[in-house]
Amino acid sequence: MADDTFAPGFVERPWWWEAAPPKPVEAPLPDETDVAIIGGGIAGLSTAIELGRSGVRSLVMDRETIGWGASSRNGGALSGAGSLGRARPDLHKALDAKLLAEMVEEAEASFEEFEALLSREGIDCAYRRCGRFVGAHAPAALEMLARRAEMLNRADPGVATLIPRERIAEELPTERYHGGLAIERAGSLHPALYTQGLAASARRHGATLAGGVSVQGWSRDGSAFVVRTSRGAVRAKHVMVATNGYTGAATQWHRRRLIPVASYMIATEEIGEERVRAVMPRLRVYGDTKKILYYFRPSPDFRRILFGGRASMRDAPVRDGAAWLHRRLIHLLPQLSGTRITHGWKGNVAFAFDFLPHVGVHDGAHYALACNGSGVVTMTHLGRVAARMMLGGDNRASAFTRLPFPTMPFYAGTPWFMPLVTAWYRWKDHRDGWRAPA
Ligand SMILES: Cc1cc2nc3c(=O)[nH]c(=O)nc-3n(C[C@H](O)[C@H](O)[C@H](O)COP(=O)(O)OP(=O)(O)OC[C@H]3O[C@@H](n4cnc5c(N)ncnc54)[C@H](O)[C@@H]3O)c2cc1C
Repeated sequence: MADDTFAPGFVERPWWWEAAPPKPVEAPLPDETDVAIIGGGIAGLSTAIELGRSGVRSLVMDRETIGWGASSRNGGALSGAGSLGRARPDLHKALDAKLLAEMVEEAEASFEEFEALLSREGIDCAYRRCGRFVGAHAPAALEMLARRAEMLNRADPGVATLIPRERIAEELPTERYHGGLAIERAGSLHPALYTQGLAASARRHGATLAGGVSVQGWSRDGSAFVVRTSRGAVRAKHVMVATNGYTGAATQWHRRRLIPVASYMIATEEIGEERVRAVMPRLRVYGDTKKILYYFRPSPDFRRILFGGRASMRDAPVRDGAAWLHRRLIHLLPQLSGTRITHGWKGNVAFAFDFLPHVGVHDGAHYALACNGSGVVTMTHLGRVAARMMLGGDNRASAFTRLPFPTMPFYAGTPWFMPLVTAWYRWKDHRDGWRAPA
């Protein structure tokens, strides 16, 4: 029987890795370094680059390969403060208004810094400033987007445009959304090429990168750290935790503050640029306002569609998650009916209990954690912030360093409450009128 979901040769592997497969780097570990960085994703590599630019040596360690985590398998959709706006508005109300305004301003500025980094370091990763469209899954969600437009336009006039339902075909020809928000200061890139570009740049600035090194913990020896790894001990002046959705027991304080959540993606077979443009006329990156949201975009060569979402807040097998996403893609854009998928994969993101990103120091060790599902620009920025904290002398501290990093009583890092949260979120989307396929 013909399979209308999986194309022949379907693989459980990020489509991005076809162009940029993770490369094993088995560098010998030095006995000592200035900064021991745990986690070889965007956050860790960004820290290493900023340190290296000031002549500070760092050792970036990843227990898999450099870039193996979310950094090389994400959707490659980029925004500045747009991602902060997605954090829970009720939690925003509890924040000091001045601090919130500073965070929005900093997040917006981080987008410009991000673009500057790409050109300064010569990172070739199919970057485009294509803008983002966020579909409203319910009429009330369109009102919420109108408020978000106001917030974004206050910081940068004209950056956001509310699109009513009758004009949605200009952005995304679907009947499922009730209009949406177009945000111009947003872009797309190839995440695996970006991460490899960061790695090359970190190396150029003098960092040592080592894959296959699992960090098991550290102890203090005077003002220095002795970091225990699967390949021996390393002495360092500073430690940096950049393990995000893969944070484990080696850094239990951080793990207690993070909720790891699996996010899934699929790539369709090649359908050609004309069919891609028929469903994505402005070739933007896309998301929506649902609790269990979708994110999608054209591939950098505009020949396929990449579609992602949280198939389950629990850890479902990739093939099941891929089939689940495929049904939703066709439900959203029935024009793609008959299109099969060639790749399916998943990766971990990390949420904080306040749904905000965090950077700071605990017990002498630095960290940049909690991307809340949207971290390509944010983790690049927070990695740099952490480096500047270690370097000292930055006269304008990041607003994000002033946030407390909350946890929950009895929470040890295993999100036992996720099935309940998933059911609650599904119910909320359903209550709003969203009817998803089975
Ligand atoms: C499917 C998916 C889609 C996404 N889409 C988008 C998007 O479109 N736009 C966006 O902005 N963000 C997106 N994100 C989020 C984004 O990818 C992350 O925010 C970002 O990559 C986090 O980078 P990081 O360096 O903090 O963590 P990671 O890249 O996850 O790196 C952490 C690394 O730490 C390593 N590690 C953990 N513990 C140890 C240890 N003890 N010793 C050594 N190494 C260790 C892991 O092996 C891992 O490689 C997506 C994420 C996923 C999974």
